Amino acid sequence: MFATVMHGPGDVRYERVDEPKLLKPTDAIIKLSATCICGSDLWPYRGLQPQDGPAAMGHEYCGVVVEVGSEVRSLKPGQFVVGSFCLSDNTCPHCQFGFQSSCAQREFMTGAQAPYARVPLAEGTLVATEEMPDAAMIPHMLAVSDVLGTGWYGAVAANVREGGTVVVVGDGAVGLMGVMAAQQMGAGRIIAMSRHESRQKLAREFGATDIVAARGEDGIVEIMDLTDGIGAESVIEAVGMEQSMTQAIGVCRPGGSIGYVGVPHGVSFDGQQLFFRQQRMLGGPAPVRRFLPDLMDRVLQGKIAPGKVFDQSLPLEQVAEGYKAMDERRAIKTMLTVEA
Ligand SMILES: [Zn+2]
Repeated sequence: MFATVMHGPGDVRYERVDEPKLLKPTDAIIKLSATCICGSDLWPYRGLQPQDGPAAMGHEYCGVVVEVGSEVRSLKPGQFVVGSFCLSDNTCPHCQFGFQSSCAQREFMTGAQAPYARVPLAEGTLVATEEMPDAAMIPHMLAVSDVLGTGWYGAVAANVREGGTVVVVGDGAVGLMGVMAAQQMGAGRIIAMSRHESRQKLAREFGATDIVAARGEDGIVEIMDLTDGIGAESVIEAVGMEQSMTQAIGVCRPGGSIGYVGVPHGVSFDGQQLFFRQQRMLGGPAPVRRFLPDLMDRVLQGKIAPGKVFDQSLPLEQVAEGYKAMDERRAIKTMLTVEA
């Protein structure tokens, strides 16, 4: 088959690779219904994350089970499934505590920008639907796999509460999903920080009540003004840079919580500053598995349409153009369609 391989910065190829096979009795093979490009795929694409030789890309996925290993009992070929980018057994103490992204057996999904993919720890990782969803549901189910799951975790980690004030730092796909999550959790006020008109529009559609275009110190001042000098009780940081973290810390009220879901690159924390500002912080790779059943239900019941975050859709063989479009910010997030 043909699949996506990154050979180095800026060098993504759709090329011939071996078909995935069951390697362990806990594996499953799925046929992708659709896949997509993640903001985190852009770190190695931009040369900001060292890479060890060619890498099979793709960790956001949904599709139909084709084959299962001998120890996979609850899944059957023909079922539609969604999984997380973190592969987990869903039985170890960390999984049972709701932190499947720190599973004792954790692996990270790769190779999903392809027509077929191997999913290790399938029984713990994949969640099946009762029926085959309509084609129109596929983008929304795909979004649950990572981008919505991560935005949702950001909101949970930021302790978003009914009626509360939330600031979302970052207007990429994850930040926009953080807005949607905060809206679903009943936040009273959702302030999205965004400078781009198309993203501001989506943020409003997803539930943002206020938009702040200013950044840095100006952005902090504007949000403090909007909140009567108090700051927000919940802040979702969805970028992972020093400036965005400073922004998040600067607008969070004492006793408030920051959920940081942008993978930090070059971010350091000042212990004394955190001590005296009295803020809670929880971050890390999202335990999407914890939220999958609930989020898949919300999609199937038509309560949310997170697939709207895909503003570009390309056939899988044009994956290189998808990376380019996201790198050049011509696309917020690119979905890759797979032939049925
Ligand atoms: Zn586990």
